[in-house]
Amino acid sequence: MTDCGCDKAKAELEEFLHDELCREDAADIREHMATCADCSGEHKVGIVLTEAVQRACKETAPEDLRSTVLARIRDLQASH
Ligand SMILES: [Zn+2]
Repeated sequence: MTDCGCDKAKAELEEFLHDELCREDAADIREHMATCADCSGEHKVGIVLTEAVQRACKETAPEDLRSTVLARIRDLQASH
């Protein structure tokens, strides 16, 4: 196998997650991830991250989100 499609899948994963790909490209990537554990793993991580960001944006005003994130970063830095 010369081209497993990983490069394309990884390059377009972000757009795929945001539903920004045309139907053909999205189908290619979906098909690739069905057979590639590496890319489907990255996809799962991407889904979790995307959902977390979307949830945060829906529930919190951007200004609140910004201070929440900054407070969390400060917490993390303080605990190390
Ligand atoms: Zn792959």
